[in-house]
Amino acid sequence: MHTIPFDASQILIDGQWRSADSGQSLPLHNPSDGTLLTHIGRGNGADINAAVAAARAALDVGAWGRMTATERGRVLSAIGRKVLDNVEMLAHLEALDVGKPLKQGRADAIALARYLEFYGGAADKVHGETLPFLAGYTALTLREPLGVTGHIVPWNYPMQIVGRSVGAALAMGNACVLKPAEEACLTVLAFARMAMEAGLPPGALNVVTGLGDEAGAALSAHAGIDHISFTGSVATGALVQAAAAKNTVPVTLELGGKSPQLVFADADLDAALPFLVNAGIQNAGQTCSAASRILVERSVFDDVLARMAARYRALRVGPALSDLDVGPLISKRQFDIVSRYLNLATQDGLRIAAQAEVMSDAPSGGHYLPPTLVSGLGADNAADHALAQEEIFGPVQLVLPFDSDADALRIANGTPFGLVAGVWTRDGGRQMRMARALKCGQVFINNYGAGGGVELPFGGVKRSGHGREKGFEALYGFSSLKTVAIHHG
Ligand code: NAD
Repeated sequence: MHTIPFDASQILIDGQWRSADSGQSLPLHNPSDGTLLTHIGRGNGADINAAVAAARAALDVGAWGRMTATERGRVLSAIGRKVLDNVEMLAHLEALDVGKPLKQGRADAIALARYLEFYGGAADKVHGETLPFLAGYTALTLREPLGVTGHIVPWNYPMQIVGRSVGAALAMGNACVLKPAEEACLTVLAFARMAMEAGLPPGALNVVTGLGDEAGAALSAHAGIDHISFTGSVATGALVQAAAAKNTVPVTLELGGKSPQLVFADADLDAALPFLVNAGIQNAGQTCSAASRILVERSVFDDVLARMAARYRALRVGPALSDLDVGPLISKRQFDIVSRYLNLATQDGLRIAAQAEVMSDAPSGGHYLPPTLVSGLGADNAADHALAQEEIFGPVQLVLPFDSDADALRIANGTPFGLVAGVWTRDGGRQMRMARALKCGQVFINNYGAGGGVELPFGGVKRSGHGREKGFEALYGFSSLKTVAIHHG
């Protein structure tokens, strides 16, 4: 039994850690061996009501609402420093809770700190404008907080998603109600404790753990919130949007993806190879921006497939604390979903081009699925098959051939999703043509996911969602623009 350094069953409302209203808790399991880790509080509608009221009070009568932008920035920077001081502890918690190899947990914790540094520094640099207007008038715009913002977070990157969403919302002076995923919330709770210790005033951040259809649904349907930022699946995102629409509450949706990387024959293949594979297997493929489709120009197709296959065979899969290349999937449920896609691939005659091996001493209770490289679909039928169209959310990459630029674009854009794309080519004209024609929110040329992207606006088109987080753009998303026209003669 691992020791969790705080009581995970407590929720945070108005600066106080307390039990959930229901008095009930939910078990949290270790994906690496299936054992019970601890329990979290089963928050419900009453807890959400209390959290929204505390957030409102923090803005209207509390210390948070009176802080200047510079003071808010200082608090965020202080939280960021605490996070940096605790990278190892956070990586350890994430390994236990999400099954992430320690190196990935460290990267996530450092990214969380980086969001806090970025938004801490940006807090007092967001401003309105003065506008040319009628004679005798001065017109200007003010950037104001939206008010109380709701944040619903999935289990795959809790630290990064809290950093980008809550970090930006707090920088703009909003007060937040945060609902982490029931499968994984230890690092979110640890972050909230650090925020309190670093001097974040009571009510500025409230955290209610619990089930999606209880605490999550209550938050989405709450008439007292001014915005909701949801990261998760398409199906749940649609529910959240419908619930928020009843109160005309605006929504940011960061949903799923089926992101392609396009490899042209003139590409630097040595440079591309690590990015092609890593973007499929990072966090066992449970990444919204995973490059689950690798599109390769036919003349180099066999070469790229063989080189990717060799990398797959060398991957080591095992418990998160062993810090190998790939850990387990989050749950038995996720394991079954991904396994169904692999069965479908075999049943439909697709080719398993390579499969990694799970370490022989990996605990039998863990949800280990060997990373699998699949080929065998052609450019002509890529639009028809579930493996080429649906988000699998596991370590499965499909490699598809294409014959021309137009072909590559047709396949790349031919899914319901549009989150991220990668393009590998030395041809400068083609780089720009592809960047413009790809239907998605981010395009990486001769790289993929560079630097974690704290500074780079992120979000989707089509079923991948709408609204943008990360970078300065998120600050605009978490603020409201007020126009003031003054007649002074
Ligand atoms: P999910 O939709 O099942 O859950 C996400 C969150 O929504 C959890 O906190 C859950 O408790 C909550 N929830 C569930 N039902 C709810 C309801 N009825 N009302 C309100 N909230 C509810 O998603 P998941 O399985 O945890 O995450 C995987 C999905 O998230 C994938 O599709 C992935 O692509 C997507 N994702 C997207 C991004 C992005 O930035 N675009 C980032 C990470 C993950």
